[in-house]
Amino acid sequence: MLHRLEEQSPDALLALIKMHAADDRPDKVDLGVGVYRTGQGDTPVFRSIKAAEQQLVDEQDSKSYLGPEGDMGFVNALMPYIFGEDATMGGRIAGMQTPGGTGAVRLALALAQKAGLKKLHMGTPSWPNHAQIINDIALDLETFDHANPDGTANVEAALSAIRGAGPDEAILLHGCCHNPSGIDYTAEDWEKLGDAIAETGIFPVIDTAYHGLGNGLDEDVTGLRSVLAKVPEAFIAYSCDKNFGMYRDRVGAFYILADGGETLDKAFTNANALARASWSMPPDHGAAAVRLILRDSKLTAMWTDELDQMRERMRQVRAALADAGTAGSVDLTPLGRQNGLFSTLPVSKDQVKELREKHGIYMAGSGRINIAGLTTNNIDKFVDALADVTGSA
Ligand code: PMP
Repeated sequence: MLHRLEEQSPDALLALIKMHAADDRPDKVDLGVGVYRTGQGDTPVFRSIKAAEQQLVDEQDSKSYLGPEGDMGFVNALMPYIFGEDATMGGRIAGMQTPGGTGAVRLALALAQKAGLKKLHMGTPSWPNHAQIINDIALDLETFDHANPDGTANVEAALSAIRGAGPDEAILLHGCCHNPSGIDYTAEDWEKLGDAIAETGIFPVIDTAYHGLGNGLDEDVTGLRSVLAKVPEAFIAYSCDKNFGMYRDRVGAFYILADGGETLDKAFTNANALARASWSMPPDHGAAAVRLILRDSKLTAMWTDELDQMRERMRQVRAALADAGTAGSVDLTPLGRQNGLFSTLPVSKDQVKELREKHGIYMAGSGRINIAGLTTNNIDKFVDALADVTGSA
């Protein structure tokens, strides 16, 4: 049978990692891979995670099965951070653990499809795996422009997608720190989006993978909360892989907002059944460590401190880029107003190639850069190289 399969192109970012590893220039710069880096270029395990892991080693007395919903202590401990003081919104939210944010996105879309979803609206560009998941489960996708050329969010495009949507349609929104553009909706945009969503009845799916890495733990969920306050039903996909530095441990959660009682229970049992048929149960270790952190005030303080430092470092890099003004034909000032790990530069594929070959600067073909790949040691080199390949303005 297998000869019938068509060759799939390798993941472009993974290919970039290999090219970067094979480059022996000492001053090469990796802006490709989507992980946080310190000013020294490392992606360390959080101190709070190390402490929680030690506690797990010392105290965990069983590794027996949990269930498809995973570690409910973890799922519940996260909720006040996402949804606020009334963490279940009056008993209208139920959640479960998933293998990373990817598992949560997949589960959200599969469950929506099972409930009758016909078409999904999504702003582009988006995280490439969104389209892969949508394609894999054969959902009908309609795209709209996420951003304006001046580096602000194109809220009008999202609003017109929402207003034009028919029944059984959903919209996928990035909760904060948009990947790959760094361009988030403003608080007023979110209010407008929430109102339009509530008016038309389109189903909102909000993917939040970088909570705390934009402007702060509360600030980064203002938009999400303002939409949830207006709508009867929604799905939230959440990742702890960035804000707890747990990437390979695959820590995520999926939350359902529904009008309480029977509907919420039915949706939850269906999510449970889909999880069981897909991965049976999520991996426990990372979620258990996050639970220990969130249940211990000292560890929580240690974690928020680590998160603050990451966010502060990325804000400093963004400020330095914005201060540089322009590099060749690229205006860097919008990057200062954008959020999170990524921004996308208006560069051609050839310019990306030239940056790599001539200057040893590695970035995705789309022009997406990882802000955390820049440090005080390489930022000038980066700006000069960008000026060199894009020419004078
Ligand atoms: N959504 C978005 C927008 C992302 O950028 C990512 C991670 N790159 C995810 C979801 C999934 O994250 P995880 O590694 O937890 O699966």
